[in-house]
This record gives sequence, C-alpha cells and structure tokens, in this order.
Amino acid sequence: MNRADFIELGYLVGASLFILGLKGLGRPRTARRGNLLGAAGMLVAILVTLIDQAIVSYWVLAAGLAVGSAIGVLLAVKVQMTSMPELVALFNGFGGAASVLVAGASFIEAVDLGLVDDQTSVAAAATAIIGAVTFTGSVVAFAKLRESLHWHGFAGIRIVNAVLALVSLGLAVMVVVDPGNTMWLWALVAVGAVLGLLVVVPIGGADMPVVIALLNSLSGLAASSTGFVLDNTLLIIAGALVGASGIILTQIMSVAMNRSALSVLFADAPSAGGGMDADEVYAGKITKTSAEEVAMILETANRVMIVPGYGLAVAQAQHAVSELAKLLEANDTEVVFAIHPVAGRMPGHMNVLLAEAEIDYEKLLEMDAANPTFAQTDVAIVLGANDVVNPSANTDPDSPIAGMPVLEVGDAQTVIVIKRSLSPGFAGIPNPLFAADNALMLFGDGKAAVTAINKALAEG
Ligand code: NDP
Repeated sequence: MNRADFIELGYLVGASLFILGLKGLGRPRTARRGNLLGAAGMLVAILVTLIDQAIVSYWVLAAGLAVGSAIGVLLAVKVQMTSMPELVALFNGFGGAASVLVAGASFIEAVDLGLVDDQTSVAAAATAIIGAVTFTGSVVAFAKLRESLHWHGFAGIRIVNAVLALVSLGLAVMVVVDPGNTMWLWALVAVGAVLGLLVVVPIGGADMPVVIALLNSLSGLAASSTGFVLDNTLLIIAGALVGASGIILTQIMSVAMNRSALSVLFADAPSAGGGMDADEVYAGKITKTSAEEVAMILETANRVMIVPGYGLAVAQAQHAVSELAKLLEANDTEVVFAIHPVAGRMPGHMNVLLAEAEIDYEKLLEMDAANPTFAQTDVAIVLGANDVVNPSANTDPDSPIAGMPVLEVGDAQTVIVIKRSLSPGFAGIPNPLFAADNALMLFGDGKAAVTAINKALAEG
C-alpha cells in the first residue's frame, strides 16, 4: 500500500467512525458510545490530515493548536451555562469564516500556480457565499440571543436581499468564468456578508431556533464545499453530515414552531409585542402560593407533570428538581417531564440539563405524547417556562407566537408556576396561563423555590 492509499484509507476509517458515531447519538442509550466513536473519528482525521498535508510546518500547526486550545479552555471555563446557545451560534459563524479563509487561500494558491480547474472555482465560489452568509448571519443571531440587538431592518429589506442574492449569483458565475481575477471572489464574500446580516436581522426572536438550526447546517455545507476546494474527502463527508443533520434539525424546529424554514427567511416577521397588554391580562387575577402550600398539594397528587423552560437553566435547578421527583416517587406519585422542542435557548437544552441531573430518559415526554395526558394530571409544575406554555399561541392570531404548538398545561387540575416575577419570556409577551383559575404562582428563583418545596415535603 503506498502513501496515498494509506491516507485515503485513513479518511475512510475517520468518515465511517463519524457515521457510526451519529447513529449512536440517535438514541439516549447508545449516545455515550456514539460520542466516543465520533471523537475517535476526529482523532483519526487529525492524524491522517497531519500526515497528508505535510506542506504546513508542524510548528505553525502547534502554535495554532495552542492558541485555539487556550481560547477554547478560557471560553469553557468563563461562559455561563445559560450563555451556551450564544456561544454555539458564534461557533457556527466561526466555522463559516474559517471555511471562507481556508478555501479562499487555497483558491488563490491554485490561481498563482495556474492549477485552478472548474471544481476548485465552483467550490470556492460556493464556500465564499455560504461561509460569508453563515458568519454574519450567526453574529446577528448571537446578538439577538443576547438581546443586545433589537433592530428589525427597514422597509423593503426583503427586496434588497433578493437583489443581493442575484448579485452574488452573478459574482459566483464570474469567479468560475474568470478565476484569474481573485477580486471576484472577495467581492462575493463581501456581498455574502451583507446578505447574511440583512437576512437574519428582520427575523423575530420567536423564530430564532429555526435560524440557528439553519445556520448550523450552512456551516456544514461551507465546510463540505471547502473539502472540494482542498480535494479532501473527509472534509467533504464531515461537512455533508453536519449540513444534513442541520437540515433535519431545521425541519424539526420548523414543525415545532409551526413555521416553514422558507417563511421564516422570506416572510415578514410576525408583529412584535402581540395584541395583549400585561396589565389587562394579569390585573386582579393572579393567585400567589407558598412552598408549604405546594408541598401539601403535591402530597395528595397521583400524577405530576414537570414542565421545564429556560428559567430552569438560569436557576440551575436540575438537581433540585431531580430530588423533588425522587421525594414524590417515594410517596407513590407518578412523575413525568414534558419537554417542548424549543424550550430553553437551544435545541435539546432541557434534555441536556435533565440528563446532567441523571433524570431517567424514559420519564421525558415529547410534546405530542404529553399534551393528551395533561387532563389526567393532578399537578403540572411549570418551572421557568413561559412561551412554551402560553395558550395565546392558540387563541391570539396577532401574537408573535401565533400557531406555535404549546404544552397544554392548563388542562391539568392544578398548575403551579415557578418564576421570579410576571416578566415575559423570550417572545416578550404576557401569558394568560398565569391568570387562569387553576394556576398558582410561586414567585422566586427556580432552584430556591424547588429546594423549599423539597424541604417542606421532607418535613412532611
Ligand atoms: P421563556 O424564555 O419563554 O421564559 C423563561 C422564563 O424563565 C421567564 O419568563 C423568566 O421569568 C423565567 N426565569 C428566568 N430566570 C429564572 C430563575 N432564576 N428562576 C425561575 N424562573 C426564571 O422560556 P421557554 O423555555 O418557555 O421558551 C423558550 C423561548 O426561547 C421560546 O420563545 C423559543 O422560541 C425561544 N428560543 C428557543 C431556542 C431553542 O432552540 N430552544 C433558541 C432561541 C430562542 P422571570 O424573569 O419572571 O423569572
């Protein structure tokens, strides 16, 4: 076996490990093994690439590795768990930017050496546009998630975007037709960057989950087309896997929000604010409760459904909730968790937190399984969730979340809502659930409130 065969075989082993890893990740029981297989695939990929791309000095690689690892460790230590979604958004963006730089450098080198062919130029053009859109789009998504950007663009922004899309198509053609002039490529990157910014800016907060999943997919596609520029099989396959899984996630998120990815990108954003005023919804209709009263109600319940939301992540209440479930189960109460697909700030946010507290995966119900069973539930505990249990999604056509399927917690006999105040959630709208006749509000930090309930339960 010669060197080239050895390298191709190494890439094949790496790619196979990625695919087996993804297969394992599809089921909670095999997820840990899937993760290990994926990591092993990455190790093989790095080693084989180091052997393959011997033209780059190992010192330069080591320096890059050291700087990158230092930044990675610093971020992992410093970033709060609740800021993880923003960080993930940035990672997508950096993936896009890295693809543009790597593919761009390789394209210029090929042009200088007179080695540029159609595959290289088509792939470089595709990487330039997809990578640039991913980078600036992700930066905007990052700012929107941090709630530090409230700009929704200007009238006619969709038309400007359509024009920019056409211009970028024209520039991409020029990159292929006239590859000797690398200015076309950088012009394409610049237009792509503006396009990414203007496409994501008008998208309302409630649609962000779909956008994040889509940007994740785009970052994979950018990597895959970079693989074509570099002629690197493994990068093509790994990028395609990220691209495809991102598209599947986009579809899941779109269904969860009752939107299509196209309508999120191209339709006008739903009106912000909605039709209801908080005072109108809440005045005189809020019933407060205490941890002791909640404990008394729970002692007589046969079935309890816990609905976690973003506030669970803020309060880091997962261990307290796990303790609550154990106490209730010791009293022969059935405890299940209802997980909305867009609860929290990133796909799978609640699952990760609950798994960390070793809550059995079998107890987590998806929305479709949970909704028909609220009517047979004695107590629904809404812990730091708001938008995902907001009935106005079904009743108020002017609401920014109109049409989004929600968890029908109001069907339970008693609803206990744990949050610090009557402040709105991510969509910025009031929630009529809090004013419902069967709803009791336990105001306070999620972890402190659940710990107080646990104490009252333990003291009997
Ligand atoms: P929400 O953002 O609707 O509400 C969270 C609630 O948690 C707030 O009302 C807040 O009320 C409460 N809270 C905050 N801190 C604490 C604390 N320490 N203790 C107790 N409660 C606390 O969350 P949901 O999970 O219901 O909905 C998710 C929203 O995020 C949806 O609108 C979704 O579209 C959006 N989104 C989801 C993404 C995803 O991929 N999952 C990505 C981007 C956006 P208070 O301040 O009164 O305590």
